[in-house]
Amino acid sequence: MKSKLDLNKIERPLIIAGPCSAETEEQVLNSARLLKEEGIGIFRAGIWKPRTRPNCFEGVGREGLEWMKTVQKETGLQTATEVANVNHVFDALKYGVDILWVGARTSANPFAMQEIADALQGVDIPVLVKNPVNPDVELWMGALERLEKAGIKQLGAIHRGFSSYEHSIYRNIPQWQIPIELKRRMPDMPIICDPSHICGNRELLQSVSQKAMDLNFDGLMIETHPTPDEAWSDAKQQITPKQLTHLLKSLELRVENPDGISLDTLEDLRFKIDQYDNEVMAILQKRMEASNGIGQYKKANNMTILQSGRWESILEKHLAQSKDTNLSERFISKLFKAIHEESIAHQTEIMNEKK
Ligand code: PEP
Ligand code: MN
Repeated sequence: MKSKLDLNKIERPLIIAGPCSAETEEQVLNSARLLKEEGIGIFRAGIWKPRTRPNCFEGVGREGLEWMKTVQKETGLQTATEVANVNHVFDALKYGVDILWVGARTSANPFAMQEIADALQGVDIPVLVKNPVNPDVELWMGALERLEKAGIKQLGAIHRGFSSYEHSIYRNIPQWQIPIELKRRMPDMPIICDPSHICGNRELLQSVSQKAMDLNFDGLMIETHPTPDEAWSDAKQQITPKQLTHLLKSLELRVENPDGISLDTLEDLRFKIDQYDNEVMAILQKRMEASNGIGQYKKANNMTILQSGRWESILEKHLAQSKDTNLSERFISKLFKAIHEESIAHQTEIMNEKK
């Protein structure tokens, strides 16, 4: 039998797989057996399902915990399930679930998080926290901190993308800068990617998984089902255990600091980047000083801050210029919008200063 998961000593990549939902005893056991054949060590299944609208399948409940126990006994796999309230925590602990995770709707709610943390006070169990549905790194950190304060020693984060009203190829937009920021602020926190809920379909799973590996994530949680099209929840995004093996084999696993290679070139390039970044900062500073001068002028002459024709022509000019560079229109547009926003903020401050 494989040794118990230790989130503080992960062998990269850590793989967690299994169906979105436990449906029947047969489906749970069949899923687990097939995953074991593929060499997977950690089995996930949702027992209580948070569904956006009522009248959908909301999970089998406590009965499924018996099936998870049978999975442990029959296959030796470790089991993981989602807990969203105190009752779930107590039931999952009572039935010996090995790993808990907190879902995206729950991590968005500090009251619910605190209750879960209180229920777990002093319990030695690995807990993974999915990012909240809204793109707020502080809220995600807050959820992890509540568990840390309750004495949970094995903690990890799961990146599952963020809801948006905008149309996108993803079910939940990855917004990679948010898990990257979480890693910067909590450098020792393992981060696992959940491509299934990011993609919402099978087609994008490989590229999102590869991206997570290239960003040095510690592992992947991927939904698998013996007959995905027949799944009672999230059918479109689930794959078979065999397809999972295929996907995992296709991944290129790069490491942060490979042994035995010279880092001179990398160091040279980093040195250059640091110089350019300094120049970018100095230029932005100068630009903002000029913008402050304009603010003073507008104030003295009773002119509005926003002169929309001028702003539009700036943006259009740079978007046109971007065609001759290797910078995307999307990036140029974001960059100049951010600069413009900061200029307006400065000028507003100037307007509001007492004469
Ligand atoms: C799940 O993992 O099945 C799930 C419901 O995830 P999320 O909380 O990311 O929506
Ligand atoms: Mn799901």
